[in-house]
Amino acid sequence: MAIRPFFSAGVWTQGRGAPFESRNPETGEVIATLSSASVEDLDVAVSAARTAVAAPSWAGLAPHLRARLLHRMGELIDRDRERLAEVQMVDNGKTLAECRALLESAANTFRYYAAACETMEGSVPPSRGAYLNIAIEVPFGVVGAITPWNSPATLEAQKLAPILAAGNAIILKPSEVTPLIALEYAALAKESGFPDGIVSVLTGGIELGRAMVSHPGIDMISFTGGTAGGRHIAAEAARMLKPVVLELGGKSPHIVCEDSDLEKAAKAVAMGIFSGAGQSCVAGSRIFVEKTIAEGFTATLVDIARSLRLGPPADSATQIGPLVTFAHRDNVHAHVTRALAAGANLLTGGELPDDATLSAGAYYPPTLLNGVSNRSDIAQQEVFGPVGVILTFEDDEDLIAQANDSEFGLAAGLWTRDIERAWKIAARLQTGTLWLNSYKNLSISTPFQGHKQSGLGREKGLDGLRQYLQAKAVFWPA
Ligand code: NAD
Repeated sequence: MAIRPFFSAGVWTQGRGAPFESRNPETGEVIATLSSASVEDLDVAVSAARTAVAAPSWAGLAPHLRARLLHRMGELIDRDRERLAEVQMVDNGKTLAECRALLESAANTFRYYAAACETMEGSVPPSRGAYLNIAIEVPFGVVGAITPWNSPATLEAQKLAPILAAGNAIILKPSEVTPLIALEYAALAKESGFPDGIVSVLTGGIELGRAMVSHPGIDMISFTGGTAGGRHIAAEAARMLKPVVLELGGKSPHIVCEDSDLEKAAKAVAMGIFSGAGQSCVAGSRIFVEKTIAEGFTATLVDIARSLRLGPPADSATQIGPLVTFAHRDNVHAHVTRALAAGANLLTGGELPDDATLSAGAYYPPTLLNGVSNRSDIAQQEVFGPVGVILTFEDDEDLIAQANDSEFGLAAGLWTRDIERAWKIAARLQTGTLWLNSYKNLSISTPFQGHKQSGLGREKGLDGLRQYLQAKAVFWPA
């Protein structure tokens, strides 16, 4: 199989690092062999980015013309959506329906930031002397973006669009597990007309990510991934005094009070943990049910979990595809095995499927556990698979104490018909996103930020653009 090059400094390049493979998790087959960028290759991309970001063809481009390039990216993603959705599916294992939705969201992300870039205004603060003072926003320069494997089509659009809208150059390193969609985006960026060097996509593993963080020619790092990686990056960035944006892990509470619409709540709780096979940073993996309804609600949830259809991601009847890799599937299973050994009660799932059509892929069944405390490892560690832990609570004080007892603070869901109770609980939950009587609504116009160990900085919305800009005050004496 020919080694796929990466896109650096406006050209497709064979890297000097050791090539690596990407596999289809449905079958285990190798779908691409990829070139890996060495430190020397990174130097080339950085140097081209530094030149391009300062050149009149980019630095002198008025915002409405930069916006036009972003609009083109959105249109090209729409044009190629079906093909791109398939690329995403075979690399990542998500269902085709879900991949189509990811691509639709990615195109809209480019359009949203095109509009934001074109209409963004500076300010003229009140003068405190005989001068005019203006606050303008300028780009950082070259931003390094590092992304995970779970939803690369949207997560990479959420890096590219605002970083470029702000007038920076970007060097994007996708996950070594799912590198393909980023390379497609590189080709579309070239076709859109971004100047050479403004968008580079380098493929490679953690070593390449580390080299980006410590590279003196990269002015800022934007990282989405696990909390462990985020901590390393923050430490290295602190040494270099380099600004960082970190979007990290979660262990989100999904709460069901006794007065909720239980049918709707059960469906949403199941979707919250099982959609995308649970490989979502906002997966509602800690399911808190009020004690008075716990038995009945648990039974309903188990029924839903058993009814979900595991299968090939291209099949329109499939609700849950394979996990991203066999190694990840084994890791998810190891979490469940350890929880059972520590005394958890298995309600459903928890075993590798023996069905002949599924045994070739990295499938894992929807799994529910109970009989553990919120302090147990399975309730505290991010499993990142279709594994939900059902916990109970006595009253609101007990609920708040348990729900907030987590190092994470990414998202939460709350089901109740009592608006006063909803407001009181919502106000006390430590979370960056809260869904009331719903789960997993996401919008590019609305800031997304992890509290506690779930992140630093915010993505999406206008704040998601501003974080890639720095203030520059200009004083002009009368
Ligand atoms: P990961 O942290 O293992 O890897 C993410 C990316 O960072 C990859 O490209 C990897 O090569 C690179 N990387 C890892 N360690 C690094 C280091 N020390 N220095 C530089 N680069 C490094 O994460 P993953 O397993 O790919 O993704 C799953 C994680 O991502 C989960 O924890 C999930 O919650 C999180 N996530 C968070 C959000 C969010 O918006 N908060 C969104 C999606 C995923």
